[in-house]
Amino acid sequence: MYNITLIPGDGIGPEVAEAAQAVIEATGVKIQWETVNAGIDVLAKEGILVPDKVFESLEKTRIALKGPITTPIGSGFKSINVMLRKKYDLFSNIRPIKAIPGIAVPFQNVDLVIFRENTEDLYIGQEKTIDEGTAEAIKRITREGSLRIIKAAFTYAHQNHKSKVTVVHKANIMKLTDGLFLQCAREVSKDYPHIQLQEVIVDNMCMQLVMNPSQFQVIVTTNLYGDILSDLCAGLVGGLGVVPGANLGKDMAVFEAVHGSAPDIAGMNIANPIAMILTGAMMLHYLGESNKSHSIYKAVEATVLEGKFVTKDLGGSASTKDMTNAIIANI
Ligand code: NAD
Repeated sequence: MYNITLIPGDGIGPEVAEAAQAVIEATGVKIQWETVNAGIDVLAKEGILVPDKVFESLEKTRIALKGPITTPIGSGFKSINVMLRKKYDLFSNIRPIKAIPGIAVPFQNVDLVIFRENTEDLYIGQEKTIDEGTAEAIKRITREGSLRIIKAAFTYAHQNHKSKVTVVHKANIMKLTDGLFLQCAREVSKDYPHIQLQEVIVDNMCMQLVMNPSQFQVIVTTNLYGDILSDLCAGLVGGLGVVPGANLGKDMAVFEAVHGSAPDIAGMNIANPIAMILTGAMMLHYLGESNKSHSIYKAVEATVLEGKFVTKDLGGSASTKDMTNAIIANI
């Protein structure tokens, strides 16, 4: 029996979290869920954005399945997602991007993993207004922060028999910050002579990804580029509805899909649950339940290939619940 924190989030979060929970339970893995929540819905009900019980549960279980949480745009409170990643030093944001057979996309063989640094860069939230017409933000890159995410990417590449790691940067312009990240990549790569280090400037990377994505295996990059490239790559394999993710630190893991709270489709029972369900599969793999994790991947693939119960974003007309039930039936 595993003790796991469940943070449903808001927007489509509760719908897809419920789907993931049901699919995980269908594998037979026994989980004691501790459900706590944060975000705008909680603020409206309890008068607080992140109740203490969220922190208490995370600090006890050290592992969570988390739905997306809305962040106001341009003003208002800061991102709860970013705060949790920083507070618990969840420095490694891992996002596998893999084509699922049956989804109509231009490239059938995309299979890459993004390692995004999750705690530094422009996401440290240090912005200030200089005068009425001027605002500034600090981009912080540290040697320690860079080395650990780059080592994580190379370790993954080594363990999974990948021959190349691509570091994405803009060190031609940001010579000190991105320059430091790139320098760290060159240093780490020396310990892995059997793995090629490919250096690509972020703008070129965007073009390469949309023209020939299967040339990439493992991508490592800073926080903001990683965030943007994740959504770009999601678009290559069918959209945000199918891409899972994990935030890993030294002693805590928070599993969450790449997508946000999707307010445009929230509460309509049409969100694609696959991203969150595969996020659950990543969590089972992390727990050592590799067979059960694999059974989820296979069931998702079978459901998509059958094509009867797929959601609107994949060209079907099934509801979130219908698709979830079809996946469960395929387990
Ligand atoms: P989004 O990912 O919520 O949505 C982008 C587009 O993709 C929308 O058209 C949406 O309908 C679609 N989409 C996303 N997930 C889908 C799914 N499972 N099935 C079908 N379609 C799906 O991004 P956004 O609109 O830029 O952001 C909305 C809110 O989410 C913002 O407040 C943002 O800050 C927040 N956000 C949260 C997280 C997180 O909690 N980790 C991540 C990204 C964005």
